[in-house]
Amino acid sequence: MQAIILSIGDELALGQTVDTNSAWLAARLAGLGIPTLKHETVADDLPALVQTLQQAADRADVVLVSGGLGPTPDDLTRDALAQAMGVELEEDPEALATLNRFFEDRGYPMPDRNRVQALFPAGGCTIPNARGTAPGLKVSLGRAQVFVTPGVPHEMKAMVHSSIEPELLAMIGDQGGGRPAILTRTIHSFGIGESDAAERLGTLMDRDRNPMVGTTVSRGFCSIRVRSEHADPAQAQRDLDDTTGLVEAQLGPLVFGRDQDQLATDLVSRLVAAGQSVATAESCTGGLLGGMIVDVPGSSAVYPGGWVTYSNALKQSQLGVDPALIDTHGAVSAPVVQAMAAGARERAGATLGISISGVAGPGGGTDDKPVGTVWFGLATPEGVFSHRAQLVGDRAAVRDRAAKCALQMLRFTVMGEDLKQIRWFARG
Ligand code: AMP
Ligand code: MG
Repeated sequence: MQAIILSIGDELALGQTVDTNSAWLAARLAGLGIPTLKHETVADDLPALVQTLQQAADRADVVLVSGGLGPTPDDLTRDALAQAMGVELEEDPEALATLNRFFEDRGYPMPDRNRVQALFPAGGCTIPNARGTAPGLKVSLGRAQVFVTPGVPHEMKAMVHSSIEPELLAMIGDQGGGRPAILTRTIHSFGIGESDAAERLGTLMDRDRNPMVGTTVSRGFCSIRVRSEHADPAQAQRDLDDTTGLVEAQLGPLVFGRDQDQLATDLVSRLVAAGQSVATAESCTGGLLGGMIVDVPGSSAVYPGGWVTYSNALKQSQLGVDPALIDTHGAVSAPVVQAMAAGARERAGATLGISISGVAGPGGGTDDKPVGTVWFGLATPEGVFSHRAQLVGDRAAVRDRAAKCALQMLRFTVMGEDLKQIRWFARG
């Protein structure tokens, strides 16, 4: 069984509203073991809707449509469906009574326009809407069972839970043979690019492999998606776990978590387990690093706090950086970040001190310190170290990646791992 998901609306096609319904629907279908072949977004345009509905219904067993069931002239899904089926619209007296009651309960008569919402294509039926005025629709078209819900996300979700999922389960039951389990997991890493990750994963990424492995990059993170499909749910789970293990072995300490896990969360747990604490001294990141640490509940056990020392004067007065170092080497330099990290560690009484000073851009770059140059200082009981990274992107990206580099540096330090495994330090 395969599904196609259609999202209807000018605002979606124009990019004014982001289509969140399709992603939600696809995840629900996957949970039922129904793979989604494609998502399509269509404007409120009758011929385009008719054509898209017909094509989808010829291709898939289930077509889920959201949007365009409202009472206004731009809501055309109902008419398009009737045209695609070659039938007239009929009125559902029960749906009409429910609509009338909906307005009576709110103390005003039903506007005439809303009457169209009780219409359904002959041969099909309406689906009750517990949250709003527009009932959904259920019809047979081509080889598919077509379900239409309102576009409003909470109405759509309620209708899927109460009416559509039970129907889909019944369809799966009628098919016999049980439904395959589809299990997914995402493994998050930081400090490697997508192509390097693909190289390390090798044949794990073969397109016909089950579990299937794919990569996504977002905001500096490289995430590996694993999708396991098997008729036996226990086997699907074992396959998912095995492939997860293989992926994690290939990426080693660069992996910091799965699914909803955050980089800073893993760092905080490791600091707690190791009995360590960290103080921060930030220049170009302006508190981003401290903010990411404080986002983690329970971080107070390992984070006394830190300093945002953007000016040279504050680097001197707050962290005790020798002005001669700044004069000689500049604020973005190994000696200055070392002094910042050592000052933060000592003044906060933490076991570790970390510092960041860089050129976030767009201005301020020079030949030997172009935009994206960031120096990190690390003070530990063993000594004071510094690392240079060359980051890419605009000001926001450089600052974001710099804070995440610092988190990963701290993780590697607690784990006793070589920082050269982190892409930016390997080249810096
Ligand atoms: P409609 O049922 O087409 O009148 O849609 C009502 C409202 O629901 C729209 O104005 C959007 O704000 C929202 N909406 C419709 N479709 C989607 C979608 N695919 N994803 C997120 N929001 C949507
Ligand atoms: Mg609409």
